[in-house]
Amino acid sequence: MPWHTYIIECRDNTLYTGITNNLPRRLKAHNSGNGGRYTKYRRPMKLIHCEVSSTRSEALKREAYIKGLPREKKLQLCGRKIETVPLVSMNDKKFMEFAINEARKNFKALSGGPFGACIARRGRVIAVSRNTVLKNDATCHAEINAIRKASRTLGTYDLSGCVIYSTTEPCPMCFAAIHWARIKRIIYGTKTGDAKKAGFNELNIPDVKLASLGKSKIRFTGSVLVNECKGLLKEWSVLANKVFY
Ligand SMILES: [Zn+2]
Repeated sequence: MPWHTYIIECRDNTLYTGITNNLPRRLKAHNSGNGGRYTKYRRPMKLIHCEVSSTRSEALKREAYIKGLPREKKLQLCGRKIETVPLVSMNDKKFMEFAINEARKNFKALSGGPFGACIARRGRVIAVSRNTVLKNDATCHAEINAIRKASRTLGTYDLSGCVIYSTTEPCPMCFAAIHWARIKRIIYGTKTGDAKKAGFNELNIPDVKLASLGKSKIRFTGSVLVNECKGLLKEWSVLANKVFY
């Protein structure tokens, strides 16, 4: 049987490259959650590229080469035009900056950790909030505060049509709140694991796993302005009077 080097596109828009000598069986495995740790919670996924090699070692070489390519090059390889609508727009970056600037206020105010969130709808900011847990409320994460603010502004709990921008991937509590608020898209910077490493008492469950377990249709994009968001955690780590919770 010939060997295949393939690329699949996961539901969170990430690409996965692998090799197999039984493509139908491997795709079935990926889509049933048995195709490996990375793809397990990123279903459903679709095959976007496949090339044939006569030997396993040849397929492995192609796999290593493709894995080293940037996303655009991988998409080019699939004969797919580079997305005319980029995954992350200028507006997305702008709204993330609102969240970052808000988070930064906690370096002085110390009302909570270095986390900020922004909710926008149709290109307009609806709410910007930061974490205020240290004002004696463990539920006052930036996203929850932003949801409360946006709901007050719009006069409804139903925030469908809104996008939430969060400097760090929403935790399970915030992910659930976002679900209940019917927000369909999450854009975040650093991962939950980064906040845990920085010293926060995170439940380290990625959103992609939560969405898969809850059969949620929420879409998310991570690593947006990730260096700036990592910078928040770094700046926080050198503060003399910081408080972890
Ligand atoms: Zn949270």
